[in-house]
Amino acid sequence: MKNDFPLLKNGKLAYLDSAATSQKPKQVIKALVDFYESENANIHRGVYELSENATEKYEAVRHKTAKFINAKSPKEIIFTRNATEAINLVAYTFGQSISKGDEIIVSALEHHSNLVPWQELCKRKKATLKVIPLKADLTLDFNAYKKLLTEKTRLVAVTAMSNVLGTVTPIEEITKLAHKKGALVLVDGAQFSSHNKTDVQKLGADFFAISAHKMFGPTGVGVLYGKQELLEDLPPFLYGGDMIYKVNQLESTYAPLPAKFEAGTPNIAGVIAFGAALDYITQIGFRKIQSHDKELYNYAIKTFKKYPQVKMFLPPKGQAVISFTIEGIHPHDIASIFNEYNVAIRAGHHCAHPLMQTLKIPATARMSFHLYNTKEDIDQAEKALQKALSIFG
Ligand SMILES: *Cc1c(COP(=O)(O)O)cnc(C)c1O
Repeated sequence: MKNDFPLLKNGKLAYLDSAATSQKPKQVIKALVDFYESENANIHRGVYELSENATEKYEAVRHKTAKFINAKSPKEIIFTRNATEAINLVAYTFGQSISKGDEIIVSALEHHSNLVPWQELCKRKKATLKVIPLKADLTLDFNAYKKLLTEKTRLVAVTAMSNVLGTVTPIEEITKLAHKKGALVLVDGAQFSSHNKTDVQKLGADFFAISAHKMFGPTGVGVLYGKQELLEDLPPFLYGGDMIYKVNQLESTYAPLPAKFEAGTPNIAGVIAFGAALDYITQIGFRKIQSHDKELYNYAIKTFKKYPQVKMFLPPKGQAVISFTIEGIHPHDIASIFNEYNVAIRAGHHCAHPLMQTLKIPATARMSFHLYNTKEDIDQAEKALQKALSIFG
């Protein structure tokens, strides 16, 4: 697979930071270049051919995305700038219906993107934010979740896969229980959807956020899925061109879905290139992606286990992400030594400060894998690890 990725194919770089952003295959880069070189026009306006073609291609990706996550209708697909904006869209629009005393539940695994918008909403509306705790095995405490759910719960906002620990959460069970209490569920799929087949209907998600740049697509594109009847009831998020139905000097009415939520010129080239990324994933298939993920994950664990100074944070059924610490070495120092060996890993809090507090550590070093990684990448990481241990050990 490395050959499909120009940034990886010739160099010696072991890129182990796909949880931050994935590398892009040549098909995606080509879609971007082709658009700007020979297809560029604004969409939804022109009656000339170039604009009509751009509109058609952009809308085709909406259909493709709906199919990719098994949405009922392309009207349920809203393009945003990233997963963060998709979550904020719900926090601002659905958030308008939240009142004093209402409750929102998040989990201890959340990325700041799926935490801070809810903190702010709760502050504005005097609502209560509750947190599903983590068990010692780094999975969500489901019994605690059951107890947190009440008649006042309006929304459960939870990640489908942790970007720090690789924990996969039981979304189907979470939505079933929430719906019994009349609460809606927003799922942060920014990590999950690049490693697992996403079926929003099977998962029972009311809202689902994904991120193109984590799934081989370009930066600047995210997707919000929402059930049609829910999205229809929500007020617009951003106001301006393209989202209106009729504008008078003092008052306007708004376009139907999905245009209602796509004010202004969107990232047309980015969305079209995201379509190429979806094609790329579909062609390979999640069965292959997952077996490759698993092989590397197990190989990395086996390799790093040889060094007793290394503490890995491994949940049962973890996926594609391994956080670790080494006694006596700060994660940033680990990452800089890895960098000397051309191994790209991340160190820090990974946009999940509260999770670090739960784990009672300031930071971790994190390796994350994707389909272009090889066992050689992990061997290269092992050499870096040996060096780190020899310097600090
Ligand atoms: C990357 C990530 C986000 C943020 O996604 P952006 O598209 O970069 O805004 C949110 N949640 C998780 C779990 C992530 O890994």
